[in-house]
Amino acid sequence: MTLPVAHGSGRHAIVIGGGIAGLSAARVLTEHFDRVTVLERDKPQEGAEHRAGVPQARHVHILLAGGEQALEALFPGLREELTAAGAPWGDYAGTSLVNFPIFRLPSSTSGVEVSFASRPFREHTMRSRLVRGGRVEFRNGIQVKGLVGEGHGVSGVRFRDSRGEDVLRADFVVAACGREGRVDTWLTELGYPAPREEMVDAALTYSTRWYRGPRSLSRYNLVVDLPSPPDLPRGGGYMSCEDDKWFVTLMGIAGERTPLDEEGFNAWIRALRFPEVWDLVQKAEPASPIYGSAKGENRHRHFEEMKRFPDRFVALGDAVASFNPMYGQGMTMAVLGALELGESLVEQRERIGGPSLVGLSRRFQRRLARRLQEVWGMALAEDFRWAATRGERPGAVSRVVGKYMDRLMNTVPNDELVFQRFVRVQHMLDPVSSLLAPDVAGRVIERATRGAVSAWRGQLSR
Ligand SMILES: Cc1cc2nc3c(=O)[nH]c(=O)nc-3n(C[C@H](O)[C@H](O)[C@H](O)COP(=O)(O)OP(=O)(O)OC[C@H]3O[C@@H](n4cnc5c(N)ncnc54)[C@H](O)[C@@H]3O)c2cc1C
Repeated sequence: MTLPVAHGSGRHAIVIGGGIAGLSAARVLTEHFDRVTVLERDKPQEGAEHRAGVPQARHVHILLAGGEQALEALFPGLREELTAAGAPWGDYAGTSLVNFPIFRLPSSTSGVEVSFASRPFREHTMRSRLVRGGRVEFRNGIQVKGLVGEGHGVSGVRFRDSRGEDVLRADFVVAACGREGRVDTWLTELGYPAPREEMVDAALTYSTRWYRGPRSLSRYNLVVDLPSPPDLPRGGGYMSCEDDKWFVTLMGIAGERTPLDEEGFNAWIRALRFPEVWDLVQKAEPASPIYGSAKGENRHRHFEEMKRFPDRFVALGDAVASFNPMYGQGMTMAVLGALELGESLVEQRERIGGPSLVGLSRRFQRRLARRLQEVWGMALAEDFRWAATRGERPGAVSRVVGKYMDRLMNTVPNDELVFQRFVRVQHMLDPVSSLLAPDVAGRVIERATRGAVSAWRGQLSR
């Protein structure tokens, strides 16, 4: 994976939001604009501390290998920097214990490597790189209030800071303001229609507490007992990260609410199918209160469908689509979205042969929507395993694919090839279609047929 480069498409670009999507987009824009300004409502950061603008960062954040590879394309050597500072890394399956619905991930080498860092630490490392690069200006304590329109496009933002309201002009504006971002309101204020919004909610809650203790407390980087439909809506586990820190996170789905009191937290852990979690909690030191989150719905704003969309403006990251966090897709999609923006800017330059950005915004939003389609489908297929999930159900084709995926998951623990392909798809390194390839499908069908025949024989011999 490489970062597409085409210097000099414009002079000044603004990025709204300094989260994972904003930082990734800012890096991409340094290849295309003379100046990039990131506007962030939070106060300036000294280090890797938590900040109010991303409350979810208090919870476990797993970056899939596809996201890690994409980040390496943007910030070469980032993983080395994280691991040199103490973030554990290793083969995903080889250093993890994971109970998926239907099957347990084999603890053998998958060939897919990942690093485990807290969200603030990963973000801090990215931000420091941009600061050192000198092409990006960070302006903190700035709350963007709206867009400035000019002709058929956007020419800046309206913001509020400690001195009052003001306007900042730019040739291009990127909204990376997260799942609570107000992009639809900003567009309607400029006279554009509101985008269609899809929402699927499996009523997920998280409770997380941080612990401190040496790496030697566990041979695993990651232990996760995922909730398992139809009747096990409780899950939880831990992730090891830099600084001898451990995130212990509980998940409740289909209306099952995770506890915020110590007694309830511990009781929930003791009932998990992995005793390793309770074992860790007894040996490590609690290092935080118990934090809660109820932001687990899937939300997709379909900007790509809008009949009219302003030039010189795009949206990406959670501001476009956010997911049930149990599947760990959000940060990866945020970084991949930024790479897609880079591709769109290069294509635009080749198409137009000059610095004009006319038509780029719509083309980018459509391109991003195509990229999101598969991930969105995967998240929904999992959430609709729960009868209580609210939202528009996927069509008949998705249901057939879902049945096939159930059979495939039954095959994963018993077949090396299917296991390795599954892990690559789960980590967004390969498309879902690779699980429908003849070599995988043949094994899945053969196993399902063998299972059906032996069940039938069993019935006959009764
Ligand atoms: C409980 C929970 C657990 C999660 N776990 C995982 C996980 O394990 N793996 C994973 O990949 N993803 C996970 N996610 C999802 C992940 O957090 C998001 O997908 C990711 O943060 C998206 O990045 P973003 O930059 O688009 O948005 P954000 O990270 O939300 O960043 C948006 C930024 O914009 C700023 N901002 C917002 N509005 C304005 C404004 N008007 N003016 C200026 N600044 C503004 C905010 O302060 C913030 O800094 C989880 C989410 C939740 C809720």
